[in-house]
Amino acid sequence: GVTRMTVSLVVIMFELTGGLEYIVPLMAAAMTSKWVADAIGREGIYDAHIRLNGYPFLEAKEEFSHKTLAMDVMRPRRNDPPLTVITQDSMSVEDVETIISETTYSGYPVVVSRESQRLVGFVLRRDLIISIENARKKQDGIVSTSIIYFTDHSPPLPPSAPSMLKLRSILDLSPFTVTDQTPMEIVVDIFRKLGLRQCLVTHNGKLLGIITKKDVLKHIAQLANQDPDSILFN
Ligand code: ADP
Repeated sequence: GVTRMTVSLVVIMFELTGGLEYIVPLMAAAMTSKWVADAIGREGIYDAHIRLNGYPFLEAKEEFSHKTLAMDVMRPRRNDPPLTVITQDSMSVEDVETIISETTYSGYPVVVSRESQRLVGFVLRRDLIISIENARKKQDGIVSTSIIYFTDHSPPLPPSAPSMLKLRSILDLSPFTVTDQTPMEIVVDIFRKLGLRQCLVTHNGKLLGIITKKDVLKHIAQLANQDPDSILFN
């Protein structure tokens, strides 16, 4: 009853054990306890644990039937500071370290340049930290002014420039993207089916924003008239 066990489990038990004579009493017991538990409380212990622990879990059974678009959910919002991005071949180790220390995002989109905002890929904060730390320890000539590049070939720089750091290997070259006009119904479906953590939003190939799984969950809570800040995530 506490776990809201279904009657079908009795059939599985019966198939495992062959104990045919117990099938009817077990079914009756499972059914009664589910009814009693349903009368007392709405959710089973596993659902309750997901909620109490604040796991960002997108339930598969609940339909999303609102008419909102990806641009209504994506960050940054209209008056927010722009998305924190990394350029593909013009930022120094120091620039990237500043971004890492000043923000807590779990990843950063990599773009061709700040002006064009064309998306190249997505890099995880964790990978960046590890790679820079390793390069500083093991690779000769990596200093704060060294340029980090994600392209195939190193950018042309004067010979006096310090050695450069190639980080193409940690770049996700095909992060999932949707356009800003994509209905949230489809976005929610993509998050569920592909188990995504984040998805980038573009418009005519230009990077506009990002939607994380928690953004989706907060949006769903908001549409259900719950206070989105009341759901606490771990
Ligand atoms: P989570 O949503 O799982 O906490 P993050 O810590 O990465 O993930 O993101 C926190 C918030 O910041 C989210 O609302 C997300 O949309 C936004 N965000 C994520 N990455 C960036 C970024 N590079 N620039 C600006 N905002 C971002």
